[in-house]
Amino acid sequence: MTTNKETRRDRVVLTDHPWPDLDVEQAIFNKAGIELITGPATATSAEEVQALIARTDPAAIITCWAPVSTAAIESPRNLRIVARLGVGLDNIAVDSATQRGAWVTNVPDYCVQEVSDHAVALLLAHFRRIVQYDRQVKKSSTWAIEGASPERISELTVGIIGFGRIGRATASRLLAFGCRVLAHGPRLTQAQAPANVEVVDLQTLRQQSDAIVLHLPLQESTHHLVDDAFIDCCTRRPLLVNVSRGGLIDNDALLRGLDSGKLSGAALDVVEGEPQPPEVVIAHSRVIATPHIAFLSNASLIELRRRACEEVVRVLRGEQPLHPCNTPTDASSLADQRLAGGVASDIRLVQGEDGPYVVKQALEKLRVAAEWLSDPARSSTEAAALCAIADLIGQDAVPEVLWTDTATNSFAMRLIDPRLRNWKQDLLAGHIDDRTATKVGALLGAMHARSAMDHDLRDRFDDLSYFETLRIEPYFHRVAQKNPSLAEEIQNIVEGMSKRRDALVHGDFSPKNILADGADVVMLDCEVAHWGDPRFDLAFCLSHLLLKSHILGAPRQQLAATAHAFIEAYRADGPAVLDCALVGILGCLILARLDGDSPVDYLDRLDTAAVRRIATSMICEPQDGPGAYFPLMQEFAL
Ligand code: NAD
Repeated sequence: MTTNKETRRDRVVLTDHPWPDLDVEQAIFNKAGIELITGPATATSAEEVQALIARTDPAAIITCWAPVSTAAIESPRNLRIVARLGVGLDNIAVDSATQRGAWVTNVPDYCVQEVSDHAVALLLAHFRRIVQYDRQVKKSSTWAIEGASPERISELTVGIIGFGRIGRATASRLLAFGCRVLAHGPRLTQAQAPANVEVVDLQTLRQQSDAIVLHLPLQESTHHLVDDAFIDCCTRRPLLVNVSRGGLIDNDALLRGLDSGKLSGAALDVVEGEPQPPEVVIAHSRVIATPHIAFLSNASLIELRRRACEEVVRVLRGEQPLHPCNTPTDASSLADQRLAGGVASDIRLVQGEDGPYVVKQALEKLRVAAEWLSDPARSSTEAAALCAIADLIGQDAVPEVLWTDTATNSFAMRLIDPRLRNWKQDLLAGHIDDRTATKVGALLGAMHARSAMDHDLRDRFDDLSYFETLRIEPYFHRVAQKNPSLAEEIQNIVEGMSKRRDALVHGDFSPKNILADGADVVMLDCEVAHWGDPRFDLAFCLSHLLLKSHILGAPRQQLAATAHAFIEAYRADGPAVLDCALVGILGCLILARLDGDSPVDYLDRLDTAAVRRIATSMICEPQDGPGAYFPLMQEFAL
């Protein structure tokens, strides 16, 4: 009750709103009982913003372009969040907000498609001379070919500086046009890039590019990245495309580069000095300019406004924001915090300059009762596999790798949306959503099917040593030792797998390694990824689902239905592997969760004799065809 009363008293100030109505904002804040105070439509000066904030004493500030200074952040009595209507944070005094204990949030991905489309549109407009000919036909009314000829797009080499969300989207568009694509980022490695994008140093990029596209943030270190020295190193008279921030380019150096011919042109959506950019830059005959609209489409704007307001509501309700860009001092317990669930790795949440990210360091000795050792260099296999899976089935399906460090056997990845929950915990708690199982099955099937033809992946993931130490040893050999009467059958099953190496296999595909919210699914933990038998992943996941459906008191019919949804989705998108070989592997894996080094944590809630009987029959007399699995599931559920 108290919380509701306090929430109703909360105020949010919207400093500027470059759109005509406030329907989206009003609807969200009205519903949440938050009072909305609006500043002028057009951004004003830092002083005027500060005066508005001082007058209204808000708990939250939402800003689009208006500068939110230290003074503005320090004046409210209980400021809890500064939400950016956009991606970049250069108009917000982030450190001051952190020190005041206020969250800073952004909406990082609302316009990835739009900005990337815009960069490519500018590039096409330049090389196909769209703007030049449009100007010409209108000015002289002549319908003639005059001036520089358009160029063949597929023969261009395009260098992308900043290979994050937007940079990657631009690369995929340019690859579709047949361009050669180079990419550069501070810690970007070839393993993190799609196979047909060449990761290069800045020098190579400047020397080999016909166009250079800027997709990196404006920070102190990147201010005037493009200066005289930068342009001097460009040897192919490139087009410079800037859809990021004006301050990345020194305008004077740009003009010198254009006039001397070192640059063939500039295509700018952002210019230092905006919203009053120097006339001499935008009026230059070799410049194509748009007034900072790369982010804009009807769809992106509505999404942006809705998601920024929802962050405010979340924080004022006492919840964490979905896209934090800082760690407020009173939330510092979050900083460098070890995350739960690391059996084979240390997993830490770290506060970076651009917000929190996760660092995962592989352990040599796993955190299980038995002495279980594995080479921590498997960390680089995992980072490479995450990148490969992103290429195969999309970046949404796995965490994005930010950097790798082989010296410390660690890599960093982007923090997953906290909305997504652990699938294992959900299943055990009886929160069973068939949309999740369907998506999990479809993703796994697509990953196996799409990788199957990829010889490059086969060569890169050929090493089976981690699979041997972390899967074959503990899940098959150890079980065979404890069940000598099954040793021969288990050995045959292992040999069968070694002969059916047809796809990229995740290697740890269990519900505990899947985060989900309905059909939004992210798979984690693929340090045992290898080129192998796709049945292993399917059986690994099914063994967990079958065992959970046997837990006393579990919602068995629902679990059986969700396993059915998983299998059917896999069948639709994956290779044809629903056979008796799969059942044999499944039997071994189930038995391993009773007898192996890593038993299930709900062993005391299972009828182990019944489970052992069924697993043994799977190993010794596996039934062929998917129809056989469901009667089995029912048998479990009795
Ligand atoms: P992102 O954080 O996903 O990617 C930025 C990338 O830049 C990261 O991979 C980072 O490692 C890299 N980077 C940082 N410093 C670098 C350096 N010195 N050299 C090379 N790479 C470096 O961000 P994103 O979503 O791809 O957005 C990129 C930029 O686009 C944003 O910072 C924002 O300023 C701009 N943007 C512009 C518009 C527009 O309307 N024009 C809209 C949205 C975003």
